[in-house]
Amino acid sequence: MSRDQLKVYAVPVQDVDLVTVVRCCGRRNTLYVRTQTNFPSTDVGVGTAAALPFLTSTPIKRPRKRRRTELEEVEEEEEPAEHSSVDIPVPHDSTYDPVDTLNESADVTKESSVPTAILQQLSEQQNVVLGGDLRADSPGHSAKYGSYTMMDLRTNTVIDLQLVQSNEVGGRYHMEKEGLKRSLALLEERGVTMESIVTDRHPQIQKFLRESNITHYYDVWHMEKGLSRKLLKISQNKGCEKLTKWLCSIKNHMYWTAASSTSVPERTAKWTSIFNHVLDVHTHDDPAFPQCLHPIRPSTDRSKWLTAGTPAFCRLEKALTNKRVMKDVGKLSPHYQTSSLEAFHSLILRFAPKNVVFPFLGMLCR
Ligand SMILES: [Zn+2]
Repeated sequence: MSRDQLKVYAVPVQDVDLVTVVRCCGRRNTLYVRTQTNFPSTDVGVGTAAALPFLTSTPIKRPRKRRRTELEEVEEEEEPAEHSSVDIPVPHDSTYDPVDTLNESADVTKESSVPTAILQQLSEQQNVVLGGDLRADSPGHSAKYGSYTMMDLRTNTVIDLQLVQSNEVGGRYHMEKEGLKRSLALLEERGVTMESIVTDRHPQIQKFLRESNITHYYDVWHMEKGLSRKLLKISQNKGCEKLTKWLCSIKNHMYWTAASSTSVPERTAKWTSIFNHVLDVHTHDDPAFPQCLHPIRPSTDRSKWLTAGTPAFCRLEKALTNKRVMKDVGKLSPHYQTSSLEAFHSLILRFAPKNVVFPFLGMLCR
């Protein structure tokens, strides 16, 4: 999506209520984001914040120690138009209609009814599958703000966004759970009942959802990323070089296991079938998955097959069957992944770059 295809409206509603709507005019994706909050004035970094909310959104820049990348240069050039005044920014895309913009910004109730309508629609639906993830405002572990995004994964629509300040919840580690908690409370209030939720494997989130009796699945991408990194490291060891040829297959195997299974035993059986498969054995003892589904044909590269008992095979087996991996594979999301959420977070990066510090209100606008 190009920058030209994006319109952002930030509309002040009373002193403390703020509605931000991001509209993407892509072919398929329409994202309506509404942030509803009553934030305490103590959260705002500058004293005059309550009276002049938009003026406080001017970023305070950290001293730069490294050379800036090209992307950051572009951001810096284009940003003043966004935060230097209270005026509505002028969109440059071909679909821009001044009357439309005027109506949208002048009639706040119309804008705020958009997400309400989505929530209303969701509350009437069955089998709602949500995806949630936290985006921290800075890289590493020193983040001040985290924005928790909740998305309807069937339509890829952002339905809620909660901005959490780390010192408000006792540290960065607790922001994810707090964001999720607030978001779920709002959805419950609006009568949205969900079938399941897909997130990463944050331990606090696991515990919280388990205690709340909510069906929880793990996003495959988050899990695959960690495991692939581990396998790549193993493959660089002496005697394990053969594993390099299997990295991609194992990654695909995880996605396939998640997408093609409906129960925990099936997922487990399919996942462990890889240990026979890498030995060129394609029938398995587990009745839940007795045979590989691929056609059996003579291999063109016989050197790729591993041998049982070799360091490569033993280390692979150890990495893929450790207690935590086996437990988590059973909970991989069968249908929906949070990739759209990740895409949305990359989009926000254009408005709230991680190397710039913003006060609460400035962050909220972004
Ligand atoms: Zn096979």
